[in-house]
Amino acid sequence: MSNTPSKAAASAGARAVALKNALVERELIPEGYIEKFTEIMENDFDPANGARVVARAWVDPAYRELLLRDGTAACDQFGYTGVQGEYIVALENTPTLQNVIVCTLCSCTAWPVLGLPPDWYKSFEYRARVVRESRTVLREMGLDLPPEVEIRVWDTTAETRYMVLPFRPAGTEGWTEQELASLVTKDVLIGIARPEVPVNGSRADQA
Ligand code: FE
Repeated sequence: MSNTPSKAAASAGARAVALKNALVERELIPEGYIEKFTEIMENDFDPANGARVVARAWVDPAYRELLLRDGTAACDQFGYTGVQGEYIVALENTPTLQNVIVCTLCSCTAWPVLGLPPDWYKSFEYRARVVRESRTVLREMGLDLPPEVEIRVWDTTAETRYMVLPFRPAGTEGWTEQELASLVTKDVLIGIARPEVPVNGSRADQA
């Protein structure tokens, strides 16, 4: 029996439509529910949100303290709340400590601040290997950390949703929050990358 990816995808799509129709027929979901949720998933759950949180923490010590003490409250100050953001815990990197997030069970991430998980994050390979050979996996993903940097891998639990708080890179003195936020990507928030200042030193909004 052939089962090419395209056929599998079409089959999954057909099943989704059939499931939706069955739920609508039985009045188990309100009118517009799926459309509204899809819109939130596509537009509101964005790693740019987490980047704004990080940038604020870099420039405001009181906010940084709150973020590390009560990540949910800190994210709520921006309105970044909701599904998969009920209990956010920020993990602070230092020059000698790199935190990395995984969900070994499935794919849990803090949607409101990180966005939806990338495909590699959901892969069996990442979930299995980042735990037992994190340094090698990070190197393969482009983050070659020197031996003195400790790597700490955090496995998402049923409730906890992590975000990595990277340390502010050198050479960003005087940058605005918006400029700082431009350095923070989804990969940085997951912990498989570190913020990098462009080699020419130019700020994002001056490019
Ligand atoms: Fe999960």
